[in-house]
Amino acid sequence: MVKIGVLGLQGAIREHVRSIETAGAEAAVIKHKEELADIDGLILPGGESTTMRRLIDKYDFFEPLKAFGQAGKPIFGTCAGLILLANQIVGQEKPHLGLMDIKVERNAFGRQRESFEAELAIKGVADDFEAVFIRAPQIEAVGNEVEVLAEYQGSIVAAKQGHYLCSSFHPELTDDHRLTEYFVKMVEK
Ligand code: GLN
Repeated sequence: MVKIGVLGLQGAIREHVRSIETAGAEAAVIKHKEELADIDGLILPGGESTTMRRLIDKYDFFEPLKAFGQAGKPIFGTCAGLILLANQIVGQEKPHLGLMDIKVERNAFGRQRESFEAELAIKGVADDFEAVFIRAPQIEAVGNEVEVLAEYQGSIVAAKQGHYLCSSFHPELTDDHRLTEYFVKMVEK
């Protein structure tokens, strides 16, 4: 059984643990950089990307997280986690980890629609996935190596680049664990 970590600094941590276990893998909450050595894949949860970044720096996670991805270990960024993975953030001079060739805009769905649910077709996953969006980012542009997996009203909301996966929405907040299962399969490969 593969072991998948959830970065445990801030955000929707427990829900991902439950989702990973339901998807048939072992889960671990990662609070120290040393723990990255024990896992086969990692989920960067939703929350607040600026807060998460502050904690990543405070606990000396920045370089170890980059190295984890660059070593070919799968990473799945959800919502704020997607923002951490992007190599371009609209209105911001510097990205965070910059591991995925995507340009993201934070809080892109507007104030009136702080949170909403929508049924999505996700390539290779489902054509009826109930996605929960909470102050969600959208992907404005992707590089050549990036495969778009889902769009919502013309905006890209899920993508894959080799061993990196990201979604604008929260796949861990419902009982539909098919996107987590998809990530578990990526880790098993
Ligand atoms: N708006 C948040 C951010 O910019 C992301 C929201 C979420 O993760 N649900 O980090």
